[in-house]
Amino acid sequence: MEALSRPIINHRGAEFHRFYEQLIEKAKKLFTTEGDVVILSSSGTGGVEAAVQNLIRPGDKAVVPVFGEFSERLADLLEFAGGSAVRVAAAYGDAPSIAEIEDTFRRNKDAKALFVVYNETSTGVAFRQLKQAGEIASANGAFFVVDAISNFAGDELPVDHYGVDICITGSQKCLAAPPGLALLSIGRRARKSIEENRRSSLYFDISRYLRYLERKETPFTPCLPLFYALDEAINMIFEEGLANRIVRHKRCSDALYEAFEILGLQLFAKRQVRSTTVIAVEQPENVSGKQFRETLDEKFGISVAGGFAELSDKLFRVGCMGQVNREHVLSTLAAISSALSMLGFENPKEAALGAAEEKLKGL
Ligand code: PLP
Repeated sequence: MEALSRPIINHRGAEFHRFYEQLIEKAKKLFTTEGDVVILSSSGTGGVEAAVQNLIRPGDKAVVPVFGEFSERLADLLEFAGGSAVRVAAAYGDAPSIAEIEDTFRRNKDAKALFVVYNETSTGVAFRQLKQAGEIASANGAFFVVDAISNFAGDELPVDHYGVDICITGSQKCLAAPPGLALLSIGRRARKSIEENRRSSLYFDISRYLRYLERKETPFTPCLPLFYALDEAINMIFEEGLANRIVRHKRCSDALYEAFEILGLQLFAKRQVRSTTVIAVEQPENVSGKQFRETLDEKFGISVAGGFAELSDKLFRVGCMGQVNREHVLSTLAAISSALSMLGFENPKEAALGAAEEKLKGL
């Protein structure tokens, strides 16, 4: 928040050049990539749209696992670009298997890309076999694009090691900066293809960003206060250490999952695909989702989200990302337990908090 209030400088001047160059270097380190990084003054969706528009031409086929709202949107974006999305669907609460993806490629040898949402925020499901998915894409000569908007820097994602050609994230989730920026890592192979492709967007023309990167500038006016805040957020990540941060996310989510089960709640995601950054819980029958969320907000100052579309009142989702810590986890659990009791769902609060504390030991 302090970084946001730094004075605005000329974004075509030497001071900006120095600032931007070191910011991009730090972002590359975070992506663990030898490729390039571009930062767009747009929210995460702009980053996803940029990846699609720059790689997919009318008639191109792309495989996309669909298991929630954001992967549905991704498939729609591929079609808006004139591509054909080959959907590999899974029931909400689960993710498609690697065998299904392999089989889809077997039946679609001409697929140009595999687009995967790593963490399906709408259902609290993570697609855990990212490395194997990258190997399948590579074996088929297809690009591998990952939307890691809601778990980048909270979950393992060594971009080059996993064979990711383009990885997209947003500033406001696990990076814990304010909303409004999209970051994309662009591997060498993706860069070549993007530079050879006919342009289909001006604002989101990645090749233009890459050209301007050489002179340490962005092609269009950057949202400077957000760039400052992102820079500070990345400094904070390195101070903590990326590996430590990933462990912290995992330990906090383990505590939440365990405590929710003890409270007598049903978890929405299957065990092997549970997200470590978004915890989706089934709303208990006889407790209205809307009333529950309002009680939490008004009486305890804790916000949780409902589900999307038809899941709106069937789920509540707890964010477990960014600066999440022991205090957040325990106060959220205590508030959820109390709100449920107030609405007639009795639950063993002490046992749940005790189990969570056990999981959080040392944090
Ligand atoms: N993709 C995923 C997985 C998301 O979680 C989100 C936002 O929550 C988006 C895309 C869209 O990002 P934004 O709302 O920043 O445009």
